[in-house]
Amino acid sequence: MGLTGLQIFKYTPAAQKLEHTNCKECGCPTCMAFSLKLAKQQIEIDKCPYASEELKEKYNQEIKPAQKTISIGDLKIGGENVLYRHEKTFVNKTIIAIFVDYSDKNYEKNLQEICNFETNILNEKQKVDLLIFKNTDNIPEGLPIYAITESELKNIGLNIIYEKDFDSTKEELINTRQKAILEKDEHFSAPVCVVMKNTNIEDQCARATYYLCKYANMILFEQFNKDIISTLMSLRQNIYTDPQKTLQVEPGLYKFNNPDENSIIFLTTNFALTYFAVANELSSIDKSSYLIIVPAQGMSVLTAWSAETFTPEIVAKTLKDLDIANKINTRKIIIPGLLADMKEELQIACPDFEFIEGTHEASDIPEFVETF
Ligand code: SF4
Repeated sequence: MGLTGLQIFKYTPAAQKLEHTNCKECGCPTCMAFSLKLAKQQIEIDKCPYASEELKEKYNQEIKPAQKTISIGDLKIGGENVLYRHEKTFVNKTIIAIFVDYSDKNYEKNLQEICNFETNILNEKQKVDLLIFKNTDNIPEGLPIYAITESELKNIGLNIIYEKDFDSTKEELINTRQKAILEKDEHFSAPVCVVMKNTNIEDQCARATYYLCKYANMILFEQFNKDIISTLMSLRQNIYTDPQKTLQVEPGLYKFNNPDENSIIFLTTNFALTYFAVANELSSIDKSSYLIIVPAQGMSVLTAWSAETFTPEIVAKTLKDLDIANKINTRKIIIPGLLADMKEELQIACPDFEFIEGTHEASDIPEFVETF
């Protein structure tokens, strides 16, 4: 399953002590950095003009994605190299695209509705990825979404499947991906776009979710429906989030139920799931509160503590950066119960505040607040 960065490094000028060692022409500071990026498919091999023939051969055999990548601006379609995310990772999320028909009497209204649509899922703002203009060659300027014409769509190298029925579309998708990945058959290396048949919303949504899982690189709808699109975006975020990168929220001071300078203060890390679990409870209780989110590289409380990304010094710096002592009169800060062992060190690092051991589970916060 591919080469590691170290295995690639052996073939670079640096390892072979050749001219151009660490020359930076590839845009990486060293040959090792280039090797690590190449192993993760984050750079093309031809960025290094000094890559040996041996390395190119290995690359073609073991790293080069089985599926081609097609770019529209910053959008990348395809480039996948595995059948299942747990084998490594999926690379480019399924593009969600909508036809905009210039000949439709509601053209302007439809276009505006699609462009205005935005959803926020786990702190990630998402919009429709791509518009396909029908019955015109003139795409309006200044759109907030990438757009191409229908004829351009047909010529960018996608394998376009016009959905007839669910079973045949499903089989074609699976067969195409298996041929590309398992057999490295170049005839099946084009990314696949499914053009959805316009049926009732529930059926269309169910079929599209299946295609998103297996294995459409792009799904194109005849008409915009925000419920279908939101559902797909939520599912897509689950599938295409790199499991090696945690979901994070912005560190800072969050407010719940219009707090004043005497409201209670909670504190935790910037791991998104921790944030949303705590935030959900704080917004549901009938007391106002603050939540201080400490930057901890997106790790959960105990992981951050053991990895030393959540230390008394980092907490002290966060309180200072947020100017908590001057903004809020409250001097008690409730920390996660799991960090009880850290209380004393926190007290020393932040003498202006008193740290209170909170609950282990976010779901116990309402009861805790009642007795606080
Ligand atoms: Fe090394 Fe090639 Fe990058 Fe130069 S261009 S630093 S030789 S990998």
